[in-house]
Order: sequence, then structure tokens, then C-alpha cells
Amino acid sequence: MNYSVALVPGDGIGPDVVAQAVEVLDAAGDKYGHVFNYVELEAGGKAIDHTGEPLPADTLEAAKACDALLLGAVGGPKWETLPGHLRPERALLGLRSGLGVFANLRPAALLPQLRAACPLKDEVLIAGSPDGKPGFDLLIVRELTGGLYFGKRGRIEAADREEAAAFDTETYSRAEIKRVLRAGYAAAAVRRKKLCLVDKANVLESSRFWREVAAEVAAAYPEIETSYMYVDNCAMQLIRAPGQFDVIVTSNLFGDILSDEASVLTGSIGMLPSASLGSPEDPLAKNGRPMGMYEPIHGSAPDIAGQDLANPLATILSAALMLRYSFALEKEALAIEAAVGAVLDEGYRTRDIAGRGAPGACEKIVGTRAMGQAVLKALENIK
Ligand code: NAD
Repeated sequence: MNYSVALVPGDGIGPDVVAQAVEVLDAAGDKYGHVFNYVELEAGGKAIDHTGEPLPADTLEAAKACDALLLGAVGGPKWETLPGHLRPERALLGLRSGLGVFANLRPAALLPQLRAACPLKDEVLIAGSPDGKPGFDLLIVRELTGGLYFGKRGRIEAADREEAAAFDTETYSRAEIKRVLRAGYAAAAVRRKKLCLVDKANVLESSRFWREVAAEVAAAYPEIETSYMYVDNCAMQLIRAPGQFDVIVTSNLFGDILSDEASVLTGSIGMLPSASLGSPEDPLAKNGRPMGMYEPIHGSAPDIAGQDLANPLATILSAALMLRYSFALEKEALAIEAAVGAVLDEGYRTRDIAGRGAPGACEKIVGTRAMGQAVLKALENIK
């Protein structure tokens, strides 16, 4: 089958890592009989240089017409002094809200090959772990297009300088809460069937509303165990017993913070993919599959851009998520994930994940391109 993929390589290491993901996608296409047609688009710093704005209208319109979007990263020191509404990162908010991708799925698992990269002790990793072995495998589902980041905000001027103030507001509608919870339940249904709603219901009215709506939605998923946890406790539990979690569903702000915390437990930010999904009922959905935007969780890493140093695995794994969620190509997604596992087993390491294995492990330190090539080779051998 043919699929159209909007590609936004972006800035810094974005083009380096996206190039590798495209090669892997094409190899998976050749192996399993699919064709990916790419539409390369500009957003972020590059778009500012060429058009004066971080997200040109043409880019958003072209992305909407594609089946899914794969993004590298945007931003860098060159654009850091621009006013907020003209910064490259604005493109991310514009793409997320323009494509209606409200559920941000961030898997975080401890790969045995990178055990030493996790700062936690074995006894912490065993506590709550489903198989009693040191490790964790969790998925944070973060609400992405509402809450504090999109709520009413402003400044209140006052004659007395000390009385001047600023505010941001957290507003969530029943519909917004329901749809992200449903995305969480759908994910939990094919995992370990546990969903934890994380909030601050002891203080915030919006969190109490999330709980009311969650109780309604949970009734439709009796096979899934639903639990509730305050965000401050969750921040602690993630470093005391991360193995207890399967799917965590939470608001935009809490999800932003908790997913960065979880990423540290896995070793390198260069390993973590993400998928942001819309609703299957949305007008942008194609063939009953939600619109999806896929990107590594890292930024544009200007310190290593263009030097063949970036780890491309987070972007390659993001491409695998695209095959799974946007194209329902589960076998193909699993093949890419298995190929990544195989190159790590063989000892291939980019610099960010080097020296993190068992003492004395035989490692081959490689650059971005060689890591991509190793994944391609491993993919050939996947049955
Ligand atoms: P960053 O994620 O770009 O880099 C943090 C550190 O991690 C750096 O030392 C970098 O070298 C390293 N790193 C990141 N990705 C790596 C990879 N794939 N392989 C190896 N090492 C990697 O975060 P930052 O330095 O805070 O931000 C740099 C720029 O990126 C800023 O302009 C920021 O606004 C932007 N940013 C963009 C996104 C996005 O596009 N989604 C996300 C976060 C930050």
C-alpha cells in the first residue's frame, strides 16, 4: 500500500536523525511491500529564516493532507532572542493543535542492554516490577492540546508595582478529558491493563473534574484496573518503584514534567520516541486511523548538530510508532523495534549511550549514519 508522510526534519540534529529514519522506513517498505511517499516541509528555525514565521500556513495545510507527520526537532541559539510568538518552538504548538493531536504517548522502558544507564538500584527496579526482575515498561499519555499551555493567560498591571501580577489558567472540558482517557484505555488494553490517572485532586478543581469524568469513562473498561494518584506522589513513585506503572494518563503540564523524569530513568534522551494522536472520528483521520505526529522527545541538540554524533534511534523508533498507530502495520513496527534491539545486543552505541552496559561489555562506538546502517542490516535479518 502507499502512504503519504509529511517530513519536517527541522533544525540542528533534526535532519541528521530524520534521514536515518527515512532509510529505515524505506527498507521496511521494501521488505513488506509498502511505499512511503514523503512531502518535505519547513517549520521551526528554517521556516523563520525563509518566511519570517515558525509555522507557515502552507506547511500546516500540506501536513494535514498527509497520512502522518514525522518530525526531527526545531530550535537553536540562532532564534533564541526572538519574541515568544516567533520562536521555532511555536511551530510545535501550532502543528499539534492544527493537526488535532491531543494524546501524546511517551513510552519509557528500561532496555536490558542499557541497564547501567538507569540511575536506580536493582532493589528499586524490582519493587512493583510485573515479572519480579529489575526493570519497568510504562507509557505516559499526556493531554497535549489543552490545559495550562493553551488556557487564558495574561498580566494585570497595577499602579503599585508590587501589586502587578500574571496568571495562566487550567481549563478542561468533559470532551477533552474523555478523549484522552479513551486513548489511554485503548493503549492499556493492549498492554498490562492498568491505567493510573495522575492529578492534584486534593487541591485543584480541574483535577476533581478529571476524576469525575474518569469514573464515567472507566465504567466502559471493566477489564482495565483504574487507579488514581496525586502528581507529587507520582513524581516520587517513579523513582521509588517505576515498575508499578503501566499506563499513566495526565494533563498537559503534569505530563510534560513526569515524562522528562521518566526519560532520565531509561538512560538517554536519544532513545525515546513519541506519538501524538488525534481522534479516529476527526475529519483529518484517514481510513479510520487517527492523524498522528511522531517525533523523538529530544530537542535539536545544537551542540552536536551536523557532526554525525546524534543518536538516531529515538527517531527510528518514532517511525515504528507511526507504522503502528497511523498505518496499523504492527508486524512492520515490531520488526523495526526488533532491529533496534538487535543492534544494541550487537554492542552498537552512539556516544550518548556508550559505556552504559554491563562492565566489560564489548561496545562498538558509532556515529549517526553507522547506527542507521546497522539498523538497516539488522532489519534485513528479521524474519
Ligand atoms: P536537547 O534535547 O536538544 O539536548 C539536551 C542534551 O541532550 C544535549 O547535550 C544534546 O547533545 C543531547 N541530545 C539530545 N538529543 C540527542 C541525541 N539524539 N543523541 C545524542 N545526544 C542528544 O535539549 P536543549 O539543549 O534543552 O534544547 C536545544 C534546542 O532544542 C532548544 O532550542 C530547544 O528549544 C529545542 N527543543 C526542541 C524540541 C522539539 O523540537 N521537540 C524539544 C526540546 C527542545
